[in-house]
Amino acid sequence: MAREKRPPKKEVPMIDTFETLLEDVLKLGVPRAIVVNPADIVFREEFRRACERNACGRYGTNWMGPPAVGQLNDLMARARCYKEGLLFQTVHPVSRSFDMKGMEEGGKAFDEVFRKILRCMKEKYGILDILPLGAGCCRICEKCACLDREPCRHPDDALSSLEAYGMDVMTLARETGMPYNNGPKTVTFFGLILFNTSGE
Ligand code: SF4
Repeated sequence: MAREKRPPKKEVPMIDTFETLLEDVLKLGVPRAIVVNPADIVFREEFRRACERNACGRYGTNWMGPPAVGQLNDLMARARCYKEGLLFQTVHPVSRSFDMKGMEEGGKAFDEVFRKILRCMKEKYGILDILPLGAGCCRICEKCACLDREPCRHPDDALSSLEAYGMDVMTLARETGMPYNNGPKTVTFFGLILFNTSGE
């Protein structure tokens, strides 16, 4: 398989990088974004247990979700290898509380913005050491290859989730001043991109 051609690493002063990075992220249609310290992230076993109780109805159906994505302890150790985190949220309209179609459309729009942010970080800033965590199971393929017992079809692009990693997004959002909920008839999705800049 052809290897992805990577852009050369760029040495960018840290504070300038983050300020301009945040400006770029906001320009991509994200209402709120902030750089957080991954050391402040709280992991909760009960969140992961909610996955295991199949609260979302998708347990065991996705390579990037439990149990295939790995044990919570291993995922926590992986997340702790990162020095920076870009936390952002997108807000989408829904017609009522359980408007599944509206939530699905919001999820697709969120994924689209997420990929634009990843592209920007990689191509403009040369940030390649990245762990991207989205909202819910990976939605790249209509049917995850996991269900056919085949390998992931897009391993370089597949997204795991904050839920699978047992991260307490509500607490993180509160500590950064971001609203967890943006009011009636909206659905809010959070994304977190953990990363190391060159030299870290
Ligand atoms: S890229 Fe496709 S096969 Fe891989 S985890 Fe995502 S949905 Fe599943």
